[in-house]
Amino acid sequence: MIPPEQAFCRRCRRALNTHTSSFGLTYTHAIEARGSTVDHRPDPVAVTELNDPLIECDFCSAPGAAWSYRCADQRTTTRTVTARIVGSNDYRDQHHAARTRRVETGDGLTQAWGERWSACPECAELIEARDLLGLISRVVEVLPAKLTRGKRLVQVRGQLHGTYSTVFDTLAPGRGRIEPGHPLGVWPEPPASTA
Ligand SMILES: [Zn+2]
Ligand SMILES: [Zn+2]
Repeated sequence: MIPPEQAFCRRCRRALNTHTSSFGLTYTHAIEARGSTVDHRPDPVAVTELNDPLIECDFCSAPGAAWSYRCADQRTTTRTVTARIVGSNDYRDQHHAARTRRVETGDGLTQAWGERWSACPECAELIEARDLLGLISRVVEVLPAKLTRGKRLVQVRGQLHGTYSTVFDTLAPGRGRIEPGHPLGVWPEPPASTA
């Protein structure tokens, strides 16, 4: 299995979300969860196998994420996903001619978030300041109106609050700088032992 934070699409070189459901392991484009549409099915590959991945901010989707953070893996359950779902094994078994299994899921689709989050400089500043509400506001601002209209806004803010609280609560010290060829970040060397 590709670690969730490393799952990218071979075709568009953008991040994928990893889900488990009764179909097993499935993938969707991360930008679909933020209201964008994608014209092709995910073709999962580890980001480290891509020459030129598009590392976008996992929070606000801005291009050119600068920092990589580590935290505990978390899983959230989505009630309905209006994204196209394709089983990971279908690609291997059907030579990338996998057909979409379904367009919408019922209850109990679980998303694995992985242990790494990429952040743009602006979101990183809010993370460094542990400004949870500031980060939520920033992310909500860039979501398309269809996701933030009326009652949905409360829902979306609630979901972000839950997910980001876990990120903040379990954040590992330090951060890695994302550079060309280092999609997972270049981390400072741990201090040399004086023993
Ligand atoms: Zn793609
Ligand atoms: Zn951002």
